[in-house]
Amino acid sequence: MSFTTRQHFEIKNVIISAGTHGNEMSGIEAVAQWQNNPSPLHEALPSAHIGLTLANKPAVKARVRYVDEDLNRQFSQAKLNMSVAENAPNEVKIAHDFNAEFGPKGQSKTDFCIDIHNTTSNMGPTLIVLENDEFNQQLARFVKSVMPHSVILVEDYQAFADFGYLCTVATKGVMVEVGPQLQGALRASVYQQTVDMSLAILRFIELYNTQTIPNLGPVQAYRFGLEVAYPTNSQKQKTAMIHPNLDGKDFAPLLPQQPCFIDFTGKDLLWEGNASYPHFIGEAAYDHLNIAFATADKCLF
Ligand SMILES: [Zn+2]
Repeated sequence: MSFTTRQHFEIKNVIISAGTHGNEMSGIEAVAQWQNNPSPLHEALPSAHIGLTLANKPAVKARVRYVDEDLNRQFSQAKLNMSVAENAPNEVKIAHDFNAEFGPKGQSKTDFCIDIHNTTSNMGPTLIVLENDEFNQQLARFVKSVMPHSVILVEDYQAFADFGYLCTVATKGVMVEVGPQLQGALRASVYQQTVDMSLAILRFIELYNTQTIPNLGPVQAYRFGLEVAYPTNSQKQKTAMIHPNLDGKDFAPLLPQQPCFIDFTGKDLLWEGNASYPHFIGEAAYDHLNIAFATADKCLF
């Protein structure tokens, strides 16, 4: 199938994946519930086949983000093209198996993938889209129309196929990223928002398939900028923490000269960048990577 011609193609095969990170419980629980009772999925999207999968079962079993490497960075075409050694990392093997089962990337048997994540950051219900095209714009506008408090995060600094994200195995894909929720824990509000957003996406696909998408105008969104590292000393040890004024303020404006870090003596460190909208603030999974937060610009999408 192709989205590049003006001819209309139906989305016939959808997968909903969770457990790409094995300690993100809202998606894992949602998939478990839908495996018991898939009727909400079929009511939302009767015109497509919907598959459910836990992507990284060993990590889910161990309740860890990953066993050897981050699975959600294994799906670039270059990595998928490499042969898999017997002693390859767990996630390299899983990525190749996943690509064989649901892809292959670039010529995929899966038309659309919803990959469900959660974050320890206070990002609320966030839809991450990876392409700035009419389909993703209409999807974002529809999700925003049925979930006005949702956040649209556009990560389009490279082509969809160039991302290493799991959802790019499908012809089209998005990530549902809801927070705050601790790793390994399940929070009812996060679970419910995860379910609501996933069903909204399925409802949109039904509208797309039946060519009945309502005419919705552009919505406020955020365009991913760059990752900001924690300050470190020459031994690469952190010398500061997220400032209390910034902590939990995902998608609120951070203005030049406002405090963004506080060092261990209590001294404020000021933001020296442009006005920005930080997110993934203090995300636990990025702490060992020394990533403090990501920046974004406001945009219409
Ligand atoms: Zn995740």
